[in-house]
Amino acid sequence: MSVAYTLFWFDVEDYLTPESDDALKGLLEVFEACGVQATWKMVAEKTRVLEARGRSDIIRLLQRQDIGYHTDNHSQHPVLAEYLAEAGWDDGVEEVIRRERPGYDDVTRILGPSSTFGQAGGSWAPQLYPFLRDAGISLFMDEAGHIGCDGEPFWYCGVLHVNRMKGSVTRAAFDRGEEGLNEGTRRFDEIYERRMADGGGPISIYYHPCEWATTAFWDGVNFGDGAMPPPHAWRPAPLRPPGDMEAGLAIFRRYVEHIVARPGVEVITGRQLVNLFPDQAQGAVISAADLVQALSFEGGVIDVTWLGDVALAPSEIFALLCDTLMEAVFTLTEAVDASGADLATISATLNGTPYGPVQRLSSTVVDGGTISAESFIDAAADARQALHYHGRVPAAVWAGSQRLSPATFLVTGADMLRRLLRGDGVPAEVTIRHGAIAGERHVHDQVWGWTIFARDFSAPGILEQARLQTWTLKPAPQVDG
Ligand SMILES: [Zn+2]
Repeated sequence: MSVAYTLFWFDVEDYLTPESDDALKGLLEVFEACGVQATWKMVAEKTRVLEARGRSDIIRLLQRQDIGYHTDNHSQHPVLAEYLAEAGWDDGVEEVIRRERPGYDDVTRILGPSSTFGQAGGSWAPQLYPFLRDAGISLFMDEAGHIGCDGEPFWYCGVLHVNRMKGSVTRAAFDRGEEGLNEGTRRFDEIYERRMADGGGPISIYYHPCEWATTAFWDGVNFGDGAMPPPHAWRPAPLRPPGDMEAGLAIFRRYVEHIVARPGVEVITGRQLVNLFPDQAQGAVISAADLVQALSFEGGVIDVTWLGDVALAPSEIFALLCDTLMEAVFTLTEAVDASGADLATISATLNGTPYGPVQRLSSTVVDGGTISAESFIDAAADARQALHYHGRVPAAVWAGSQRLSPATFLVTGADMLRRLLRGDGVPAEVTIRHGAIAGERHVHDQVWGWTIFARDFSAPGILEQARLQTWTLKPAPQVDG
């Protein structure tokens, strides 16, 4: 039976307006009353402030829910995209861990570990994913523009994503009374009916608790347009008139009640979602014959590869191809009894998703040019070793002093493996076929409009790193049962 898996998530971030604490408590009580749970993505400073203000009432309610992490202090400059704008990969990764790990440890100490991460506003860079993986945070859930995959859940840098959900994200305007409620429930029902007709799937609904307490965002009034006033000058956000919060909470409760009552709706948390979308490629044993059949790379285009219901990202294909190609060459040339060599029995096992390359280098061999097979095989052995050493696709695959881009190596290597499996033996020469990664289209570039950034802020270096990491991008199909 179809299930509309409905996710409520909240970015809990206003640490400057104490009234927003009460909005948070009111929302937690709505979920208590409705018997369901949401995912509360906590800014560490907000969590510390709740502790310092003695709000153990709120902390105890939060501990009954699903916790996420929403950065250490959200909008204080430099925000993540600012300090990573000129960073490379390794230095960027280290800087995210230096700045974010202590905050995450505070949230974990006070509320328990997080299932989920969400970026602060428009501040994102792919160098944050090693931090998430290191911290054991399995899900990135947000609604930001940088990276998406056709409005459905996806994997990127080895982390499950619910982001840029297009037609499957919604909310009700709780501050517009009955009209807002009716509009919100009608919009939810439209998405719900489509999901139910399509075999089910996730629906994403998100808010900030401070929206119930204030008429403007706490960070915009302090840190907008790149401003960083000293802490003694920070001021709370303007409050809603008396009674507004309670009225808004009452409307929101009816919205949740409407959703919970729909047959086939299951309200789930980020942590539960992770279990519904396991990465079935991990640990899969893939035969050389299946691999070769899946890899045609027409026109040199490298996209997600499907083996039945299992999706493989380009970086995973790269790892599998290196292993399979080397094994095939070994079997043909080194096996004691090469005459009985059976390439059909060769297989490779996928263990993890390697990161993409961290630098864009072009091939020095022209499309259609040739190199000796011996040289190509040496290059493949070196590429495999580099992949395991660095945990990522190498930026260049070296055949002597000649350089192949990893995409060109992958397309050419697949051609070679196909020939070997046909029984042609190891050729004298290999014809180089240029490749390119199709997933780069999923990175958008008009994404630096967040009001907290300085007006002229942009970070092309981050988007370049993001495009290179689309080597790791693939859809996340839901696994039934
Ligand atoms: Zn936020």
